[in-house]
Amino acid sequence: MQQSKDYPFLSGGGEAASIIAGFGWASTPLGPIEGWPGGLKTTIALILRSPVPIVTLWGTDGIMIYNDAYSAIAGGRHPALFGSKVREGWPEVADFKDNIMAIGLAGGTLAYRDLPLTLYRNGGKPERVWLNLDYSPLLGDDGTPVGVMAIVVEITDRIRVERALDAEREGLKRMFDQAPGFIAMVEGPDHRFTMANPAYRTLSGGRLLVGLTVAEALPEVVEQGFIGLLDEVRDTGEPHVGERTPINLLQEDGTLEKRYLDFVYQPIRADDGTITATFIQGHDVTEQHQTEVALQALNNTLEQRVIAEVYARSKVEEQLRQIHKMEAVGQLTGGIAHDFNNMLAVISGALNLLKRKRARGETDFDRFIDAALEGAQRAATLTQRLLAFSRQQPLAPEPLVVNRLVASMSELLTRTLGEHINIETVLAAGLWQVRADPAQLENAVLNLAVNARDAMPEGGRLTIETQNAFVDEAFAAEFALASGQYVLLAVTDSGSGMTPEVIARAFDPFFTTKGVGRGTGLGLSQVYGFVRQSGGHVKIQSGIGVGTTVRIYLPRHHGESEVPAAKPLAAAARQGNNSEVILVVEDDSRVRTLSVESLRELGYTVIEAGSPRAALAVVDGPETVTLLFTDVVMPEMSGRELADLAQVKRPGLKVLYTTGYTRNAIVHNGMLDPGTSLLAKPFSIEELARKVRQLLDGAV
Ligand code: ADP
Ligand code: MG
Repeated sequence: MQQSKDYPFLSGGGEAASIIAGFGWASTPLGPIEGWPGGLKTTIALILRSPVPIVTLWGTDGIMIYNDAYSAIAGGRHPALFGSKVREGWPEVADFKDNIMAIGLAGGTLAYRDLPLTLYRNGGKPERVWLNLDYSPLLGDDGTPVGVMAIVVEITDRIRVERALDAEREGLKRMFDQAPGFIAMVEGPDHRFTMANPAYRTLSGGRLLVGLTVAEALPEVVEQGFIGLLDEVRDTGEPHVGERTPINLLQEDGTLEKRYLDFVYQPIRADDGTITATFIQGHDVTEQHQTEVALQALNNTLEQRVIAEVYARSKVEEQLRQIHKMEAVGQLTGGIAHDFNNMLAVISGALNLLKRKRARGETDFDRFIDAALEGAQRAATLTQRLLAFSRQQPLAPEPLVVNRLVASMSELLTRTLGEHINIETVLAAGLWQVRADPAQLENAVLNLAVNARDAMPEGGRLTIETQNAFVDEAFAAEFALASGQYVLLAVTDSGSGMTPEVIARAFDPFFTTKGVGRGTGLGLSQVYGFVRQSGGHVKIQSGIGVGTTVRIYLPRHHGESEVPAAKPLAAAARQGNNSEVILVVEDDSRVRTLSVESLRELGYTVIEAGSPRAALAVVDGPETVTLLFTDVVMPEMSGRELADLAQVKRPGLKVLYTTGYTRNAIVHNGMLDPGTSLLAKPFSIEELARKVRQLLDGAV
């Protein structure tokens, strides 16, 4: 086997030189190396030293001799390709090679740039390659072509990169062209468009933009401040974001159209940080904006309608409240009219009797005058109560002593509910204060009382009770209250009671089981509304045939005390209690009758005695006596002596004296001790009421 060093022209020719030296050329048209012409050897020596891939194709068959650089292009076919005929070595491009050989051997040259070919050089796998090819004839000693030299430069990698870049560029362009938003780039201090996508052009009415400055392309925006914004972005390097920004743009038909844009001006920086351009990107949000404005307008009208509706409703509710108040007043009217008639009867009766007495020449008028006066006084009192009740007050909460309010109402209730209903008040001592609107609370109690009356057509018992109460966490949570201290006001009747179904609906406005024209179904809803508004709660406990208790819980008020009101005090002074028994001792029967009637009128149980002896008999007897009301000057025994004897038998018995003499006269006579309770005759029923009440309440 020959080696490359055996042939000087092959020395330094690399791997290819070794292959040439060891190849069996004798069996090829080229013949053994020893016989190769000088030109052939010179050519081989040249290509072997070239870094450029070169293959030489010799003779009509194109016997291939190539250099090391070409081995890479031969791929898996190297080294078998060496010395083979070109059309057999590259069967997939045989026709192409035939053409090369024909032209080359005819003395022509060929050059290809970026030629794409599919080769199977690596294990039969198709491979897309790009080549730059240069073919030129190799001349023999006589100047005729004997072969072809091919310089083969594979540029597949570069082409691939270029293709990828092209595809990317194409993608970007499509994106740019088809983006729904508008995109543009402006450069330089005068903001010259370097690109603008179709959406941008559509926005600007199809105008040409690229190459023009913003001011040239869109002259109408100069005055609208957009160029100023672009200047600012360029100067500060801070992007500008515009939202729902109005802009007037010239349309193709020459009109200005207002559009609303969401957009950003984004400064673009070069690697050295300088700002080279401004990127503009955004959306035309005119339609959304208009929809939103329309929606907002709709909302506003809706809101207005709701306000109007609520207003209308509150008016209706106000009217209903008014109607209900009228109803409550109406419920009262019957009782009041009856009362009034009674008083008028007393007055006119007394006047008639006076007239007859005078006609007969009699002069004992006093009793009748007193009776008439008393009737008139009672009528006046009642009118006052009515005026107080019907006053129309807005909700005005104030510190309130519930006991006092209830006490002040019981006269009104007694008169209203009628004689067949026995009213009892059980007012707790040391009751806490609340803060509530007194008129409303009165109204609530009145409503409950009227309901109780309706539930007791045959009469019965109405109990109004007050109590301090503690609302625990569980109760508070159930009824959405704050836990803690409350004042409980309970109104109980011995009436028909309610079924669970009626209890469940009783607070509903307009729920009534009473016939048309009798019930409005507003009473309890008013009570409920007022109590809840005052931070409290109201509960019904009822059973058919058992009766009903309605409990009102009002939160304890810790602040300042109730402003003492003169009127309720005066009213309270009149309140009697059937369980309080007064023994009236008076020798003058007319005066006694007046006193007895007055006290009964005030609600007390009265026992009368015409003399001290009769009085002592009562004291000895089984009856309770709470208070002794006695004349001072009597024939058998002075009032003072009577009182002393009575108090021995009934220690703690309270005593109220009355006399026609002045206080000084009596006390100076030693008949009474200073500080004793004394009511001077003549007294008004008010004076009597106040004095008795003060004494019973231990105030004097
Ligand atoms: P109205 O008294 O106009 O019917 P309310 O709201 O005051 O309306 O009462 C609603 C209903 O609750 C009454 O119709 C009645 O059925 C029932 N109710 C209220 N209080 C009592 C009560 N004390 N006893 C029995 N039923 C009552
Ligand atoms: Mg009612």
